[in-house]
Amino acid sequence: MTVPLFDAQREFTAQAADLEDAALRVLRSGRYISGTEVAALEADCASYIGVRHALGCASGTDALELALRSLGIGPGDSVLTSPFTFFATVSAVLAVGARPVFCDIDPVTFNLDPTSARAVLEGRDPALQRLGVDPATIRAMIPVHLYGLPADVDAVGELAADHGIKVIEDAAQAIGASVRGTHVGTFGNVGCFSFFPTKNLGAFGDGGLVITNDDDVADRIRLLRAHGSRERYFHEIAGTNSRLDEIQAAMLSVRLRGLDAAIEARTVHADAYDELLADAGVTLPDRGADRRHAFHLYVIRSDDRDALREHLASQGIGTAVYYPVPAHLQAALGDTGYAAGDFPQAERASHEVLALPLFPTLTRAEIEDVAAAVRANARVG
Ligand SMILES: *Cc1c(COP(=O)(O)O)cnc(C)c1O
Repeated sequence: MTVPLFDAQREFTAQAADLEDAALRVLRSGRYISGTEVAALEADCASYIGVRHALGCASGTDALELALRSLGIGPGDSVLTSPFTFFATVSAVLAVGARPVFCDIDPVTFNLDPTSARAVLEGRDPALQRLGVDPATIRAMIPVHLYGLPADVDAVGELAADHGIKVIEDAAQAIGASVRGTHVGTFGNVGCFSFFPTKNLGAFGDGGLVITNDDDVADRIRLLRAHGSRERYFHEIAGTNSRLDEIQAAMLSVRLRGLDAAIEARTVHADAYDELLADAGVTLPDRGADRRHAFHLYVIRSDDRDALREHLASQGIGTAVYYPVPAHLQAALGDTGYAAGDFPQAERASHEVLALPLFPTLTRAEIEDVAAAVRANARVG
């Protein structure tokens, strides 16, 4: 049997009738941009998450960029984030002309390590000292809720208060995740989500969402995503075109109604992996205390990751490495001055992590096959 890492077609088929109805409704309406479907999805997302404003945009990357711009972050500013993330987190900082700076991660949660973040903010981080960056230029922090597990939002809130900086949550992988019942994305100033097709709430193309409880920030995001215009052809500020399409919004509304059930299914699968891999010689994902893991990904650690990955591939099992190179070592950062060894936990994780197949329509039999293959590799190795 082959087991795919993710099966977009199977996920579509499970809800095909409702999704096709939604798409056809929009095609027949003749209204494809800024209509009732986007407004309805925004209202439904705001109520699901528990936030005053939810604003659609063209992608998760745009959500981050709009968030940074809405808080006035730009040239001369630095933004602190985790080096163990999808590079979009960093690209958004670069796109607004600010400088990304990093701290190390907690090896158990893969999320940013508050102790390391504090060292950066207090000017005690050797890498930042070597780079000659003044920690006073750090005006915002982007915690990433990686793989769907909420970051340490209490510690992030304390750091932000102590240093008077803004918090933008990169919740692209974590819609539906929460801490003590409060949804991620609402702990900082602005929260960002992605509707990329493989994400927990996946569209049929690109899409994103920005959320905030701050009326002024919401107003600025509304302006920024529509060329700075409130009234057509009158432009108050320079913005961009970043919209969610009506057809995507209509189909996402169908999926939003099933989101909690989808996360529940993912969690049942994660429970099954935990049970079947308990003695397989790999490290299983942490779930943290007081929180709901959205299980966008089920990521194990292995000190022989590449051999395990090859073995699974030979059995027809799809896996992926999120992410093989930490952000501070990416070529795109050019000569910012970060070097190998600066963030050892992030670097170690990049060599050890492996995502196993996980999506709501995955079957128990498939999970058993994957687990058997992982265990067989442990015996061989
Ligand atoms: C997917 C993702 C993004 C970007 O979202 P897009 O919709 O692909 O632009 C940003 N950050 C993280 C952590 C992501 O996983």
